[in-house]
Amino acid sequence: MENGKTRKDPPYATSLPDDEGYYGSFGGAYVPEVLHANVEQLRNSYRSILDDPGFRQEFHALLTDYAGRPSPLYLAQRLSGKHGCKIYLKREDLNHTGAHKINNAIGQILLARRMGKTRIIAETGAGQHGVATATVCALMNMECIVYMGDTDVNRQHLNVQKMKMLGATVVPVKSGNMTLKDATNEAIRDWCCHPSNTHYIIGSTVGPHPYPDLVARLQSVISQEIRTQLPAKEGREYPDYLVACVGGGSNAAGTIFEYMGDNRVKILLAEAAGHGIDSGHSAATIHLGKIGIIHGAKTLLMQTEDGQIIEPYSISAGLDYPGIGPLHAYLAGAGRAEVLAVNDLEALDAALELTRLEGIIPALESAHALGALSRKRFHPEEVVVVCLSGRGDKDMDSYIQHANINNHAS
Ligand SMILES: *Cc1c(COP(=O)(O)O)cnc(C)c1O
Repeated sequence: MENGKTRKDPPYATSLPDDEGYYGSFGGAYVPEVLHANVEQLRNSYRSILDDPGFRQEFHALLTDYAGRPSPLYLAQRLSGKHGCKIYLKREDLNHTGAHKINNAIGQILLARRMGKTRIIAETGAGQHGVATATVCALMNMECIVYMGDTDVNRQHLNVQKMKMLGATVVPVKSGNMTLKDATNEAIRDWCCHPSNTHYIIGSTVGPHPYPDLVARLQSVISQEIRTQLPAKEGREYPDYLVACVGGGSNAAGTIFEYMGDNRVKILLAEAAGHGIDSGHSAATIHLGKIGIIHGAKTLLMQTEDGQIIEPYSISAGLDYPGIGPLHAYLAGAGRAEVLAVNDLEALDAALELTRLEGIIPALESAHALGALSRKRFHPEEVVVVCLSGRGDKDMDSYIQHANINNHAS
């Protein structure tokens, strides 16, 4: 999983943190005393476990035979015609359980087993990470407890039923505005009570070091595959643009990991603007956030003057988070990534466009990445790879509502 081939020497942008888990001034590990030993154990063992040939073999066998990798790199011809360039979709929507989240869940459950853990906890927003975690726990016969905000339990009913059918215990969280941030608080609290036997499978590149690096490395299979797949189609292993949405940042991190140090590759990140960045109803953390600490990491955080967290809003439950992975805060600050704030309506339009042009219904999160395409002018020969992070089944209610609005308007 080394990317030394193309990476330039620091201070040029890097996908790897320093020994303390900092990407520039973002990251670190701000954890309560009772979790120190746990986080230390993870930090001392994750690199050697991930590099162990036995682990790598087991991880890649499951990615291939269970998750269905490699995911296709698909040239979307009609979408390309619309945007005046060559657009390839990295089809993470075709993975088992319908998104990129399964890559990380498989990796972390194998890691947990090697660390001698017997109990798994996770947080979830839309339920995609909860379903992926419950899935690998069923596969590995491990106890699974998923914390989920009560608001999300009610609006993501199908995923709650899936987790239960898979044998997980779903705990509704009734603090705060009962969404992802609150579920994460509760998962951390559980971990504090059961530090010795429990592994916390965090679903994105957030949390205390080493989680952002651990999750980025497990998701880096996405960019490894792009680099293997692109030469047969384009005669070169790098695209001109990589485009991904960012909630916590894991699908984006996986998409850009291998290309971070290659400045021929431009990086576009789409965050969720909700009703608009100035509307007071937004989740555009990189545009709106100031430095602060959330869930164990120093990063950009949507907060008031006196440091109270501002509740985020996005139509997409997977992007509805007031923080952002420290890697992405760093890449934005360093100018390595361009960050576009894509609002609800732009994402809905982009979802409908992909559906009608290519016959693919994307997740609302992925639709934000697609929405970013309309903001740029491309040249016909430019190669643009978009991470299609997940499929849209879970979002059909939102799409049906939007279709109704369109029908009324016309
Ligand atoms: C969870 C999710 C996201 C957002 O999470 P990241 O860690 O930012 O990738 C994006 N797309 C889909 C389909 C998801 O399920």
